[in-house]
Amino acid sequence: MKKKESGHSELKHHFASDNYAGICNEAWAAMAEANRGMASSYGDDYWTAEACEKIRELFETDCEVFFVFNGTAANSLALASLCQSYHSIVCHEMAHIETDECGASEFFSNGTKVLLVPGENGKIDLDAVEHTIHKRTDIHYPKPKALSITQATELGTLYSVQELQAIGELAKKHSLRVHMDGARFANAVASLNVAPKEISWQAGVDVLTFGGTKNGFAIGEAVVFFNKELAFEFDYRCKQAGQLASKMRFLTAPWIGMLESGAWLKNAAHANNCARLLESEIRKIPQVRVMFPSQANSVFLEMAPEALEALRGRGWHFYTFIGSGGARFMCSWDTDTAEVANLVADIKASVA
Ligand SMILES: *Cc1c(COP(=O)(O)O)cnc(C)c1O
Repeated sequence: MKKKESGHSELKHHFASDNYAGICNEAWAAMAEANRGMASSYGDDYWTAEACEKIRELFETDCEVFFVFNGTAANSLALASLCQSYHSIVCHEMAHIETDECGASEFFSNGTKVLLVPGENGKIDLDAVEHTIHKRTDIHYPKPKALSITQATELGTLYSVQELQAIGELAKKHSLRVHMDGARFANAVASLNVAPKEISWQAGVDVLTFGGTKNGFAIGEAVVFFNKELAFEFDYRCKQAGQLASKMRFLTAPWIGMLESGAWLKNAAHANNCARLLESEIRKIPQVRVMFPSQANSVFLEMAPEALEALRGRGWHFYTFIGSGGARFMCSWDTDTAEVANLVADIKASVA
């Protein structure tokens, strides 16, 4: 690891990712609460049982809940439990499981192939999914078994309840299991203003990766199996993958604090609102184009390469991995609206 010059100067000017933000008060307080003495290890403790219960209450259904350290593990281990090695997983070509997880889904499933489909605004096109499923039915083709969708998507858009229902129906028709990468599930719930069940199990989602990290936790994601049969021996899968925390209570206590206080939704709504604010201000700048509808907590901008360089020169950090000239600005629970205004001012200056 490279040594960094200074810690605190790094706290400013960051719209690169929502995981640049720290730990919110509610999550921190819950960890402190869990730190008052000894407790059984490996999840055999009060906080873990209570966190599972709180998640069941949130989704208004009986479900199997597990906790892992990060999203890559949550996604890939969940997908591995839906598929055999000779199966395939259908997902969008921009899906995190394809572009940002180093082949973990293929690895943990012992080779299950990921099949990519296109679709506007980061959302799978259902005709393309059908085409991929029907393209071949012979024994030489890896049999499609899972459909993986991301909510909110990698491009900061959302599947509506109706769109999710259509996906669920398509999956059912073809006996596909549905996985949802919900690294930003909270942002989706806040933005759509729906009950969590409406965009998960009621729409046919079998297993959800429910993100904590980007929503203000120190660490950790929950894997929620609505189809409980698919959770068979998932605890062993986690352990073998090095994802069973021995001091589990520090992964799980924050879920209690975040869900009880409502901070999970408050944080997500704040991040969404900051992105909305950024988007509305940017739309007033003619030299800059908003690339995708900003429905969650990110805004993607297209502007001249020189302008991006000028913006970097002013100390702003952001990713430019989307196509040519596209820059992603990500808001978090901790984004300051004054910083949004500063960013807008510097964007204006950079394109001038
Ligand atoms: C951040 C993110 C994840 C999780 O990534 P980790 O770094 O493995 O925790 C998963 N899916 C999406 C869409 C993400 O943005």
